[in-house]
This record gives sequence, structure tokens and C-alpha cells, in this order.
Amino acid sequence: MNYEAVIGLEVHAQLATNTKLFSGDSIAFGGEPNTQVSPISLAHPGTLPKTNKKAVAFAIKMGLACGSEIEEVNYFARKNYFYPDLPKGYQISQHTTPICKGGFISITTEAGGERKVQLNRIHIEEDAGKSIHDIDPSNTCIDLNRAGTPLIEIVTEPDLFSAEEAWEYVTEVRKLVRWLNICDGNMEEGSLRCDANVSIRLKGVTTLGTKVEVKNLNSIRNVKKAIEFEIERMIAEVEKGNIIKQQTRSFDASNDTTFAIRDKEEANDYRYFPDPDLPAFIVTKEYIQSIAATLPALPWALQHEFQEQYSLSKYDAEQLCDELTTAAYFKAVLQYTPLSKQVANWMLGPVKQYLNEHQIGFAQLSLAPAILAELVGLVEAGKINFSVAAAKILPAMIEKNEQPLQIAEALGLMQVSDIDELAIWVAEAIAAMPDKVMEYKKGKKGLIGLFVGEVKKRSKGKADPKMVTQLLEQKLNA
Ligand code: ADP
Ligand code: MG
Repeated sequence: MNYEAVIGLEVHAQLATNTKLFSGDSIAFGGEPNTQVSPISLAHPGTLPKTNKKAVAFAIKMGLACGSEIEEVNYFARKNYFYPDLPKGYQISQHTTPICKGGFISITTEAGGERKVQLNRIHIEEDAGKSIHDIDPSNTCIDLNRAGTPLIEIVTEPDLFSAEEAWEYVTEVRKLVRWLNICDGNMEEGSLRCDANVSIRLKGVTTLGTKVEVKNLNSIRNVKKAIEFEIERMIAEVEKGNIIKQQTRSFDASNDTTFAIRDKEEANDYRYFPDPDLPAFIVTKEYIQSIAATLPALPWALQHEFQEQYSLSKYDAEQLCDELTTAAYFKAVLQYTPLSKQVANWMLGPVKQYLNEHQIGFAQLSLAPAILAELVGLVEAGKINFSVAAAKILPAMIEKNEQPLQIAEALGLMQVSDIDELAIWVAEAIAAMPDKVMEYKKGKKGLIGLFVGEVKKRSKGKADPKMVTQLLEQKLNA
């Protein structure tokens, strides 16, 4: 392939405030149409907007997490245009004067490395309402509940180079906004939407090609599919000798293609001007400091810490840092045991499986970290067999909140580590396989596993495998 793709993403994240950006209207999802719309959201004469402080704090939080520079003197501007779902005739935005400038979001590259995707800006703006075309066959319905909902728009530099990277990037953005608790990240409900700007150029060329913008992608899959389609379409156009037109396009999820909705020959003129109803707002250094103080350790920092401090694999560390609650639970368990790798295996294995089966997350897990630590310790010490612990003891611990020892004893699941008792099974196993004993003595030491397995069978899994191995070795080498 002689071509390289260049991609810039604009992600709109709906902020998890209770009310709208400039009014007290609820932003709850799923309300009856047009029931969350006050005269302020409609900008009726005599009404005055008032800025939601929580939304500003959330935007700063995101900027700090991305290493952006935070602007201290801010104002909102009106972006003027007409659209049926825009009741005021303008959108209040910071498009040209963003509160956060620059910064980056780290992604894992296809080669498994790490790369910082450069951000251009993060700004605050309000959402528009919704035009609904599929309720009435001959009319478009308008629901203004969403009009005025606070958003941040996170805009990258043209710094992504494949559909896979775009996928990774949106995944990281979603993880981060959830981690910071500033957006629920639900793409199906429109809490996170993405516009993808795509261009191609010949490899080695450093200037940018003409871009198209695919609007309103509402799943990470669709972001990837739309970009894949666009790259191929544009390459085919150029190969045919055609010129790429600067366009706004839309994605058709029924067949993973895109289609043009308008050609963009020149820049729109939105007549931006500072909103006269909203005074400039100052974000002091002290205020920024106070927000910085509330930031949790960030996923990538924690992931490195887990890898280095607890010798976890990159994969395990990544899994544990998928959600803040998961990472926090891991750290909580490690307050009670030094067995970090085993805890990671338990959390990502049997515990995760239990959570998946019950469709809950670590946040809803009613298992005290200390008790999980104890179970991990008991298994490591050979007192309880791992499979038995995972299948029988763990669910009982979660559901009855009982101690693992208590359960294991009540169910007769304690591992036997009494030497005399073990010696009987060991003797039986040796007696049952005289030819294998000969082979072992001649040097086929790998057969030890076979004997251990035999003891396991005879003891119905209750024999402590470590002690059994030792005893067998003593006997066979005697
Ligand atoms: P517009 O004014 O059309 O909205 P911007 O310059 O604000 O364009 O950029 C919007 C997004 O498009 C940004 O994420 C930016 O990185 C990206 N972008 C700009 N030019 C290109 C290009 N030639 N190819 C790919 N992405 C681009
Ligand atoms: Mg744009």
C-alpha cells in the first residue's frame, strides 16, 4: 500500500451532571419527550442562563487528566445557525476559546507499544435537541429534552493513522471519562458520540490531504467501520484519478458504508460572538489545584505501577485498570496479602466469572477484600484446592459473606495435609503402577505428574499436591 490514512477525532461526551449547562432542567435519559425543557433552555425573552459549575469542574478534571493547559479566563460564545432541534437559533459553545488546550491520551499501538495521541483542545458546549424521523411517516418529531445538556468536546490533532488506532483511542477516552466519573460513557444512549475526520496521502508526504467528516458515530465499532470504509473509498477515488471532495458524510450501519450529506466548499459562517447573557468566568489557579487534588491515580499510571510494583503482566495490569472500581478492589485486597499475582489471577479468573454470570461489576461485589485475601492465602498454603475453592467456596463466600475456612470445614472441603493420611494414598498410587515406578527409577522423572494425578484421584482432590509431590519423590528416590 502506497497510502497512509490520517485521522482526527472529535468526541462529544455528555457530562454526568444532574442538570443542564445553563438551566435547572434535568438531563436524565429516557424522559417523556419535551418534559425537561424550561423557558431558559428555549431562551425565551426575559430568561437568563446561569453556568453549571459542576460542568466546568468536570471539563477541568478531564483536561488535567490529559495533561492539557487549563485556560484561566473563559467565556462562552454563541454559534449561530438554524436547525429545527436548536430552539434558540444558536448553540452556546467555547469552540474557539477552549477551557483546555493541548494534552494527550495514550493508546496501545498495533505493535503493542504505547503512543500519546495529541489533543488539540477540550471545550464545553451545550447539546442540541433530537429530530426523530421514524415515529411518524410524514412528519419529523422534535424532542428538546436533550437541548442544553452539558458536553465536553475532545478534539485530537490529526494524529491517528488507522481505524484500529481510532478504535483504541475511543476505547481509552471512554475508559477515562468513566474513571473520572464525569460521563457514563454509554454510547447506545448517546452519552459519547464521535465525528471522524479522515484523509489519505501518499506515504512520505507530510502535508494533509483533503478530509471528509463522518458525523455522529454512536459505537466504537461504527467508528472503526466508518473509517475503514472511508479509507478504501478515498484510495479508490484517487486511483481512478478523481479528486477527493471535502464533505460531511453519514454512516449507514446496515451495510457499513458512508454517504455524503453535504459538500463543504467553504467554511460555514457561524458569526461567533461572546454570549452577552453570560459574563466571562475566571478559573483561578487555586481552583484548578483543588480539582487536581481530587483526581484519582490515572489508569495508565496505575497500570505501570501494577506491572512494576507487583510484577504483573501488561495484560493483567491492563485488565485490572479497565475500571477504577476494579483497580481499587485489587489494591484493597493487597492490603491483606502480599500474593499480588495470585490475587490478580483470582480477580480476573473466578471472581470475574462470577460477576459476569450475575451481570454485575466489582462496584457491586459484596465480598470484603480481606476475605478474598484469606481465600487466596489458604489456596496458596495448600489448605484448600484451587478448583474446589473457585467452584464451591467463592460463591458461598459472596452470597453468605462467610469466612472461607468456615465454609470449607462445613462442606468437608479442607485439603488433607496430614502426612500419615497422605502416605496411604501415596503408597496405593505407587503400588498401582509398578512398571511406571521402574521407568521413573531409570530416569524418566517427568512421570512424577502421573503419580501426583493418581493420588489426586484417590483422594478426590483433597490431598495437598505440594506435600504429595514431596512424599512421592522421597519414596520413589529411596
Ligand atoms: P473543521 O473546522 O472542519 O471542524 P478542524 O480544523 O476544527 O476542522 O478539525 C476538526 C478535526 O479534524 C480535528 O480533529 C482535526 O485534527 C481533524 N483534521 C483536520 N484536518 C484533517 C485532515 N486533513 N485529515 C484528517 N483529519 C483532519
Ligand atoms: Mg468538526
